[in-house]
Order: sequence, then structure tokens, then C-alpha cells
Amino acid sequence: MTAVRTRIAPSPTGFLHLGTARTALYSWAYARHHGGQFVLRIEDTDVARSTQDSVDQIIASMNWLGLDYDEGPIYQMQRLDRYHAVVEQMIAAGTAYRCYCTPEELEAMKAGQEARGEKRRYDGTWRPAPGKVLPPVPEGVKPAVRFCNPPDGDVTWDDLVKGPITINNREIDDLIIQRPDGVPTYNFAVVVDDWDMGITHVFRGDEHVNNTPWQINIFKALGAPLPLFGHCPVILGDDGQKLSKRRGAVSVTAYEENGYLPEAMLNYLARLGWSHGDDELFTREQLVSWFDGTHMNKSPAQWDAAKLAWVNAQYIKRADDARLAALVAAQLGRRGIAVGDQSVLVPMCALFKDRCSTTVELADWLSMYFTPVTPSAEDRATHVTDAVKPAIAALAERLVAVAWDKASIQQAIKDTIGAHQLKMPQLAVPLRVLVCGRAQTPSIDAVLSLFDRNDVLTRLRTV
Ligand code: GLU
Repeated sequence: MTAVRTRIAPSPTGFLHLGTARTALYSWAYARHHGGQFVLRIEDTDVARSTQDSVDQIIASMNWLGLDYDEGPIYQMQRLDRYHAVVEQMIAAGTAYRCYCTPEELEAMKAGQEARGEKRRYDGTWRPAPGKVLPPVPEGVKPAVRFCNPPDGDVTWDDLVKGPITINNREIDDLIIQRPDGVPTYNFAVVVDDWDMGITHVFRGDEHVNNTPWQINIFKALGAPLPLFGHCPVILGDDGQKLSKRRGAVSVTAYEENGYLPEAMLNYLARLGWSHGDDELFTREQLVSWFDGTHMNKSPAQWDAAKLAWVNAQYIKRADDARLAALVAAQLGRRGIAVGDQSVLVPMCALFKDRCSTTVELADWLSMYFTPVTPSAEDRATHVTDAVKPAIAALAERLVAVAWDKASIQQAIKDTIGAHQLKMPQLAVPLRVLVCGRAQTPSIDAVLSLFDRNDVLTRLRTV
């Protein structure tokens, strides 16, 4: 059996969006599952809209997700000579031809077809045929090159995701494979590349299903071996509409900034369109060992922000505290809070991570250790009552001298409630409000022990 080779071929006209990230992930996992290779190809033939910044972002997103590639990035615009050579071969073989129609003529052709209620298609003016006399070549018109699509018969393939698909050639026309400026079009460059790069399996978005018959016909015209194709259904937003750049955060980098862990994102994206029994949480290694291209969903997946948050929370719980500390330091840095020695964050992450879905939420908690808090007037009025203020003042005095650890702080709190005949929550809640700025926290002795003693004393003395 030929070695499996897959690829992802993003166009660098924006960030790596979630749909492409998911097909990249399937292509990568499929190659890794079979011990094959995964290629990154940059489809930059839309010169006006392609940017290096976008390439950099795509690569950064792939790196973040851990989708390592064996070859690439290969840029299509660096392969123009190869496409030109193939075009010339095809013209010589009679499977492609030059078309000198001007944009105005094509426009008129389209208008006429629309007026007659016909399907829009190229009318074959320049398509050679035995015995046909072609129009005289006009001066000063740079030709496009069109593919001689077979006029009839079916194109059929067994889609890895959707199952058998058949399209009749009468449905499709002679598409342009090279523009008058010499730049190849997507459907042609993609075939030459998939052929040259020995691609055996193509996973891509649903939006390309209609392109596949052309591509298969071009593969056949070139005598090139056909890869297998799998078209993954679109991802719908929480609102059931198609995800798009205008609808919500759909770039991979946005999720990184918003405090998601790459392994959670990988897990969630993989599960969105594929399943392995009832497994909701799986490691990268499990994904690779399970992902054989079967059990792909045929229907669109719905993006579920709450589920992603749940998945992320599971990974945050399991994450190493030192790693979380570095991520939280970066989040705090974005807010202008410089932590200095990151190691102070390690026990803080350990204490708070169980209640956080993202590292942004973790940073929300931990910022109280580095910047002053402002308890709400309502919390103060409800919890920091005149009845409890003497106990707070007394506790502050006890805390001046105790050893600064959880057990000693706990003892000081117990002694204070004993001396003032209070119940634990009557003192613990106002402590939380004053020191943390909120009424609920993990165990207050543990929370306090991670503060600087003087910060606690200052906040308690505001009563
Ligand atoms: N450049 C195309 C895209 O980003 C690639 C499609 C394909 O994988 O063939 O949609």
C-alpha cells in the first residue's frame, strides 16, 4: 500500500479559522495514524488578498495546536513554472485550450443566458473540436486557458465522509485553469500540487464538494492517480448559522488569547465532526490511535461554547501548575499586571484551577493578589456589619504575629470566632469580601496564606 500523505492547503487571506483548523487536524491525525506524512501548502494565488502576516498566523496556530507537518510550507506562487509547464502539456495533448474571450464578451454571454433562463456556463466558443473552425485570434487579448471538460458522462467518487457522490459532466463547464495574467486557478493548481506531492487523502470543507468533479476530471486528463476525498460538513454557530469571520471569534488565535489550552481545543475540534464511541475527553495520542477516517459526521456540527468551556475546564484541572502559572502570568501581563517571580503563581493556580474554565478566569481570580480590590457596597453592607467589625479588627491584630501559613491563619480565625462568639461564616465571609473583593472563595485560610501578610492587614484595616 502507498504511504499515506495528507495535506492542509489554507489560503493566507486571513487567520486560520476553526473549519480549516478542524480539517487540518483530521488530515494530520489521519497521516499520523497510518505512520504517513502531513504537508502544509500555502495557496497564495489570490495575490491581492494573500499576506505574509496571515501565513505567519496560520503557522503559529498550527504550532499552537501541535499539528506538526513533515513538509512545507510550500507556496503555490513559487511553483508557477511547474503550472505553466503542465498547462502547455495539456494544450499539446488537447485537454486544455486558449480562450480569447474578453471580459465584456463573457459578461454578454452571461447576460444572454440569464435572459433566456439558462444555467450560466462557458459556451465553448474557443473549444477545439474535429472539423471546427475557431474564430481568428484577436490582437492584444491575453488568453485564459480552459480545461476541456468531458462533455458528458458521470463523475463519481466515494467520499470518505459523505459516501458515494455522482455529478453529471453536463452540470459543469470548461473552467479556466490559468488566468490571462499567467496565474493558475485554484481547481488546477490544487490538482497539480496534490499530484506532485503524492497526496493520497484529501480532507477539506464541504464548500469544495462542487469543485471535486472538475478536479477529478483534471487528474484523469493528466493521467495522475486520484486521491480519496473527504468533505467535512460546515460548523454552525451557537445560533445555528454558518460560522463566519463576521460571526463571533472564529480564529484559532482568539481562543488562545481567551485562555483555552491547545489540547482542549484539539479535543473539542476533533470531536466536533467525529466520534469514538461515547468518549468526550481523549489525549492527542488516543486521537491518533483512533482516527482512521471512519465515524465522521455527515451532518453539520454545531459549535457549543459551553461544551468547549467544559472540555477546557477538565484540561485546566489536570494541567501542571507551573505551566498554568506561565499562562496566567501572560494573561495578567496583558492587563498591565507584572507578576515578577512567576513561581508565586504556582500554588495560586493549584488552589483556584478547579473552579476555572479558562486561564482568563484564573487570571480574574489571581489578580486580587497583585492589585487592590474594591468590594461592592452591597457586599460590604450585607457582610461587613457593625456586629462583626470588632472581630475583624481583633483578627487583624492576631495576624500581625502568627506564622504566615494556612494552619496558623486557620488557628487565628478559630481563636477570633471563639473570643467573639461568632460562627465561622460570620467572620469568613466578611474576610473574603474585604481581602478578595467577593463573598465566595475557596477555603479562606488557604486563600489568605498566599497573600502578602501586609496586604491582608491593610485590607482588613479598611473597616
Ligand atoms: N485553499 C483552499 C481553501 O483554503 C484549499 C481547499 C483544499 O483543501 O483543496 O479552502
